[in-house]
Amino acid sequence: MNRKRTVAFASNVTNIFFHILTKCNLACRHCYINPEQHGKNTLPLDTITEWLKLFLTRGRDANVIFLGGEPTLHPDLAVAAELAKSMGYGSVTVDTNGYLFNDVVDRSTPGVIDYFSFSLDGATREINDAIRGKGSYEACTAGIRKAVSRGFSTSLIYTVSRMNLHELELMPELIAEWGIDRFFIQVIGLRGKSAGSQSDTLQLTRSEWMDTIPETAFRASDLGITATYPKVYLEPGEPFECAALCAENYFIFPNRRVYRCPLCEDFPINGLRIENDKIVETSKINEADLYQLTIPEGCVMNRLVQPGNLSYHDDGTPEYRVGCCLLKEEIRGLFNCKE
Ligand code: SF4
Ligand code: SF4
Repeated sequence: MNRKRTVAFASNVTNIFFHILTKCNLACRHCYINPEQHGKNTLPLDTITEWLKLFLTRGRDANVIFLGGEPTLHPDLAVAAELAKSMGYGSVTVDTNGYLFNDVVDRSTPGVIDYFSFSLDGATREINDAIRGKGSYEACTAGIRKAVSRGFSTSLIYTVSRMNLHELELMPELIAEWGIDRFFIQVIGLRGKSAGSQSDTLQLTRSEWMDTIPETAFRASDLGITATYPKVYLEPGEPFECAALCAENYFIFPNRRVYRCPLCEDFPINGLRIENDKIVETSKINEADLYQLTIPEGCVMNRLVQPGNLSYHDDGTPEYRVGCCLLKEEIRGLFNCKE
């Protein structure tokens, strides 16, 4: 029985990460939303509907993840989710900080919203609220209870930093107790606010990451919960693949920018843009000129924006390669393993 697998990129599935607004009721320390780059507007329902249609291709599966800001602040989120499902999106996910505004749980059903993904960054009120804001632990755990009690499938996203690494080990038992189905451990990235002066104090070292994250994921799996985390460091000989070149992921922002690489989102180098209800290529130079480059360190955008993730031998060759930020390791919940 092999519980662990690297989730391969799929070229026959479209995943859209749809930021329908950038407004949020919280101000988390590591927030990656950058209104200067992503816009400040809230998309009206008819625009959301048109853009959802744009990314559907006949004969190809498609999934949508609604994001913000806080997407439940959008008064039409429940309707947008229903429209996405009726158009043919195979799965609809809502990433939320747990406040679940606009009665979204009451106005939708598990047949429409496949997953609510809750962001919580501490096992205790003290640590979570120091990162995400006062009252956010209470609101998020109440939101989880409400969604689970209404029969929705749920995930929990824990963004690991130096501030909350010590509480990660407490999460598997809590997640099991709360009835959550999936556990996503996320790496703090150097985007948005965390790219500022606090980056040195927030980001984990390679050994902190390797020593803690896989072990916690296996503990969650022992409790029947499927756990996923970014692979980050490639093993020797493991092939490097850039998702922007071999998968169909689109990161859409309300200012019409569309990126293929999430590490590019802090810069005005989006390769695509929505104009007159069409997806059009932007002029050069853009992200596509960067992610086509082959370098010995692996991911070129990591080399550019997160060079602190890398180490070199005395002769200048990299000690290891960093994989695509979208490459995930999955540890299946022990009771879900089929082999
Ligand atoms: S809940 Fe999300 S969008 Fe809102 S401040 Fe926190 S990280 Fe940013
Ligand atoms: S993170 Fe790196 S490997 Fe992944 S899509 Fe961006 S440039 Fe490509």
